[in-house]
Amino acid sequence: MRPAAVPKVTLVGAGPGDPELLTLKAVKALRRATVALVDDLVHPGVLRYLKRGARVIHVGKRGGVPCAPWASLATPAPQGGAPGLGRPGARSSTPQAFIHKLMVAEARRGERVVRLKGGDPFVFGRGGEECDALRAAGIEVEVVSGLTSGLAGPASIGLPVTDRRHTRGVALVTGHTGEEGAEPDWEALARSGLTLVIYMGVARVRQIADALCGAGMDAATPAAVVRQAHTAQQRQALCTLGSLAQTMQAEGLASPAILVIGNVVQASPWWQAAQAPDAAPARRQALR
Ligand code: SAH
Repeated sequence: MRPAAVPKVTLVGAGPGDPELLTLKAVKALRRATVALVDDLVHPGVLRYLKRGARVIHVGKRGGVPCAPWASLATPAPQGGAPGLGRPGARSSTPQAFIHKLMVAEARRGERVVRLKGGDPFVFGRGGEECDALRAAGIEVEVVSGLTSGLAGPASIGLPVTDRRHTRGVALVTGHTGEEGAEPDWEALARSGLTLVIYMGVARVRQIADALCGAGMDAATPAAVVRQAHTAQQRQALCTLGSLAQTMQAEGLASPAILVIGNVVQASPWWQAAQAPDAAPARRQALR
């Protein structure tokens, strides 16, 4: 193979699920790639845009999520040989440093490397860290934005996160504590009046709801959960901040899911339907 003039890696956002939500630029990058390093949350249908013979390496990274949501779906042949590699849903995560090394090594060998990440590569995707590692190794980086689950997920239930009749804006927040247990400033967020869109919040939903209520947010504030948005497995529930943890548990809404907290949730037709006197009992119950 003729090596590329300057080694290059393209970070591509695969969007939240449905391959039709890929950008044209993402499809072009996939068609060119000879090697793809793929995150767990990437829908397997996206891989059909790779050219025949392209090598697929699954590098799971799931920050506390126990297994890949698509593990039950048909996937390309395993590529074994390294920690957490080879098949979606492998129990162990691939260490981030290993992903960096692998991208560098493949690019230096002259491969056209695509790093395929769920949603948008720069929204809670460690895309920034990966760019830094690549640039430090003298590798050129291109970033192809994708639709982030925190916006496309709510949109799938008609939830306009910045609707001006309800809010002045939106905050994208992680619910996962950092390495030293660092947390978002829930008190400031509770006071902000912004719609809160929380990624990776399933495991700590009770603590998050308690922190927001403790900071003065009304327990009756509308809330929504969208699980596996834009996939055939999508499920959602609409409730209130005070009943969020209980609703998620009762309805089995596990990761990956997006939580939305704020008055703007009322703008979703799902909320309006749940308020109707003839609403399905499960949904009405969720509103208590
Ligand atoms: N870069 C991704 C986010 C990665 S963090 C993006 O822009 O979407 C992983 C978290 O994203 C999950 O824990 C979950 O909160 C959320 N997520 C990703 N895909 C999702 C989907 N299809 N439906 C709901 N939440 C999703």
